[in-house]
Amino acid sequence: MKIIMLGAPGAGKGTQAKMLAAKYEIPHISTGDIFRANIKNGTELGAKAKEYMDKGLLVPDELVVDLIMDRFKADDCKKGYILDGFPRTIPQAEALDKALTAVGESIDYAINVEVPDENIVNRMSGRRACVGCGATYHIKYSPTKVEGKCDTCGADLIIRDDDKPETVLNRLNIYHEQTQPLIDYYSAKGVMKEVDGTVDMNDVFDAIVAILGE
Ligand code: ADP
Ligand code: ADP
Ligand code: ZN
Repeated sequence: MKIIMLGAPGAGKGTQAKMLAAKYEIPHISTGDIFRANIKNGTELGAKAKEYMDKGLLVPDELVVDLIMDRFKADDCKKGYILDGFPRTIPQAEALDKALTAVGESIDYAINVEVPDENIVNRMSGRRACVGCGATYHIKYSPTKVEGKCDTCGADLIIRDDDKPETVLNRLNIYHEQTQPLIDYYSAKGVMKEVDGTVDMNDVFDAIVAILGE
């Protein structure tokens, strides 16, 4: 099964993608996570990506497309995958289509997690990320057992550099300009499904499972 998670920054794509990956036993591929791992490890790709990410801008299409095509070669992608944060532009979606068509495959579902802009800034200001394992929490909606420490690995939690309110507004504008057109793109292909992302995260999950099947 090949699934794309769509939605504004902070809509809950990553949260849902992690739960879906566990249920359906397919990998969760987050381009944002891959870039953050590269930044942490001090790679050349990380240095290039950071320039854009810190400003709330999208990393250039070529960089992202090369990275994802390389990721698809891994063995764990044979059964499918959940794409979180890719594609984010029409050229990226076209590159993905071209690569899939070449091997006789296609996307099964694009799931749009709908959250209005008014809720996004609130979501993002409470988001906390683990420096050790990358787990995501929310101070109000998904708190850790010990404040400021990851439940899974015990490492410190931080506010992502790009979750500052000024940067969030930039990211939202870019989402509307460059990523939202993908909803029409995947609707035209007949694979687009929408879920309400404002409800409890477990209810969002149930709504997605109802679409994908048990
Ligand atoms: P969020 O989960 O809040 O939507 P991500 O972790 O997916 O954010 O992405 C963080 C940043 O990484 C983006 O703002 C962008 O700079 C960069 N990025 C991630 N995926 C892509 C992509 N497919 N195309 C371009 N830039 C990307
Ligand atoms: P995205 O990957 O779309 O940027 P995340 O999954 O990182 O979004 O979620 C953004 C923030 O909102 C996180 O702090 C997360 O814990 C929280 N969150 C996710 N889903 C919900 C929900 N349904 N209700 C409330 N908070 C949520
Ligand atoms: Zn952790």
